[in-house]
Amino acid sequence: MSQAAIAYTQPAYSAAAQQALARKPQLFIGGEWVDSSHGALIDVEDPSTGKVIARTADASDKDIDRAVAAARAAFDDGRWSAMPPMERERIMIRLADLLEAHAEELAELEAIDNGKPKGMAMAVDIPGAASEIRYMAGWAGKLGGETPSPYALPQGAMFGYTLREPVGVCAQIVPWNFPLLMACQKIAPALAAGCTLVLKPAEQTPLTALRLADLVAQAGFPAGVINIVTGLGETAGDRLVRHPDVDKVAFTGSTDVGKTISRNAADTMKRLTLELGGKSPVIVMPDVDVKEASKGAASAIFFNSGQVCVAGSRLYAHRSIFDSVLEGVAAVAPRWAPRPSLDPAAQMGPLVSGEQLDRVMGYIEAGKRAGASLVTGGDSPTSDGYYVNPTVLADVNPQMSVVREEIFGPVVVAQRFDDLDEVAKAANDTCYGLGAGVWTRDLATMHKLVGKIKAGTVWGNCHAVVDAALPFGGYKQSGIGREQGRQGIEPYLETKTVFLKL
Ligand code: NDP
Repeated sequence: MSQAAIAYTQPAYSAAAQQALARKPQLFIGGEWVDSSHGALIDVEDPSTGKVIARTADASDKDIDRAVAAARAAFDDGRWSAMPPMERERIMIRLADLLEAHAEELAELEAIDNGKPKGMAMAVDIPGAASEIRYMAGWAGKLGGETPSPYALPQGAMFGYTLREPVGVCAQIVPWNFPLLMACQKIAPALAAGCTLVLKPAEQTPLTALRLADLVAQAGFPAGVINIVTGLGETAGDRLVRHPDVDKVAFTGSTDVGKTISRNAADTMKRLTLELGGKSPVIVMPDVDVKEASKGAASAIFFNSGQVCVAGSRLYAHRSIFDSVLEGVAAVAPRWAPRPSLDPAAQMGPLVSGEQLDRVMGYIEAGKRAGASLVTGGDSPTSDGYYVNPTVLADVNPQMSVVREEIFGPVVVAQRFDDLDEVAKAANDTCYGLGAGVWTRDLATMHKLVGKIKAGTVWGNCHAVVDAALPFGGYKQSGIGREQGRQGIEPYLETKTVFLKL
C-alpha cells in the first residue's frame, strides 16, 4: 500500500539563496577565494526537483596541495596554536554567533542542497552546528597535562609532567546527510585543540560549507587556519588522505570508504577518527504505551528520510504487541510522506540524489524478491525529484540484505522476539555498533539491555538524541574514536612526556 499522491512544487528560493547559488565556483584557501587550477566543475542539484542549481569547483591535486600548504604554514608559525586560548575561544564563539545570525539563510541552503525540510534544518542542523562550535570553544583554554609522581624512580630525583599539544594539520572529510552540522562537528575540536585544517564537504552538498567559509573570514580566524575545498572523494579526498603534510584525518561516511581511508592513511601513520555506518536496532518491550513507542519507532527511521547513521532501521517488537506496533508505525507513516524541502508542511524531504534513490529502491526490490512483505510505502511517487515513501517491511529474516546492510533511506524492517536474551543477540547480529533504541517502562529491563547491547550510544524511550557535550561514535565497524564531549578533543591532541632530573 502506498501513500496518497501529493503535489511536488518546490517553492521559490529567497534572494539570499539565489545569491549563494550564483557565487563563483572557487576554493577557500589561505583566507582567500581562489580559482581551481584546472577549472573542472561539479553540478549541484536540488533533490526536490532533480534540477542543477549551482556548480562548484572540483579541486585538483594541485589545489589540495595548495590548501594543505596553507594549513601547514598557519600551523607551523603558531598563528593559531600560540594565540592565547581566550582569544581562540572568542573567535570560535564569534563564528557560533554568526551561524545563529544566518540561521534562516543556512537552513534554506541546506534544504535546497540536501533535500531536508527547511524547518528541520532550522530546528536541528543550524542550532546543532552552532552548539558544536560553542561547546568546543570552551575547551580551548581548559586543556592541560598532568604531573604524575614517578612510580619506579626514587621520589624527589626526577620530576615528570605531560603537555598536550595540537596534532597539527587535519584533513576533515564529511558526508551529505547533515552537511553543516558534520562540518562544524569536525572543525570545532580541531580548532579548540589548536590545529589547522582542510575541510572537504561531500560533492552533493557543498553549499553551506562554502557559506561557512564566508563566516569564518568574518569571524576573524587567521588566514590558513580553516581551508575549505570542494571536490570529489576519489580525487580530492584521496589526495588529502595520502598527503604527507597532513597529520590527522577525520572522516564521516560509509564503512567501505572508511576502510579505504584507513588503508590509505596507514602509509604515513596518520591519526584517524572514523564515524561510519550503522544498522541500529529499535527494541520495543511489551510493557510500553504502544502508540507512543510506534510514533518513536517511526521517527527513528523516517527522520531525515532515514539518511542518518543511527537511523532505527531494524525494528524488534515483542511478539505480544508486534501487530499493534506495526499498525502504529503504518498509521503515522502518512505524516512522513515526502514533500519538497521548502514546503512549510514538509516533515520528510526527498533523498539526496538519484544515486541514493536507485540504491534505496534497489534494496526495497531485493527485500521483496527475498520474500519480505510490504506493510506500507515501497514506492517512489514522482518522476521529478528523489522521493521515496516511508516504507515498512515485515516477514524478513536475518539473512536478507535489507536486514544486514545499511540502506540509508526511509525503510525499516520489522521482526518479532520473545525474550530479552534473544532480542539482545539479534540486535548485536551485525557488523555495526553505532546506536540502539530501547522502549520499556521497566528500569531493570532497560539496564539489562544497555549492558548487553554493543553500540556506542543507547537511547531509552527516545532515539538519535545527540549533544555536543556527550561523546558519539561506534563499536565494531561503525568507527574508530569518539567525537563530541571532552573525548572528542583527544584525537586532536598529542601527549608529550617530560622528565627533568632534579
Ligand atoms: P561516502 O562514504 O562515499 O562519502 C562520504 C565522504 O567521503 C564524501 O565527502 C566523499 O566524497 C568522500 N570520499 C569518498 N571516497 C573517498 C576516498 N577514497 N578518499 C577520501 N574521501 C572519499 O558516502 P556516499 O556519498 O557514497 O554514500 C554511500 C553510502 O554511504 C550511503 O548510502 C550510506 O549508506 C553511507 N553513508 C553513511 C553516512 C554516515 O553518516 N554514516 C553518511 C553518508 C553516507 P564525495 O562524495 O564528495 O565524492
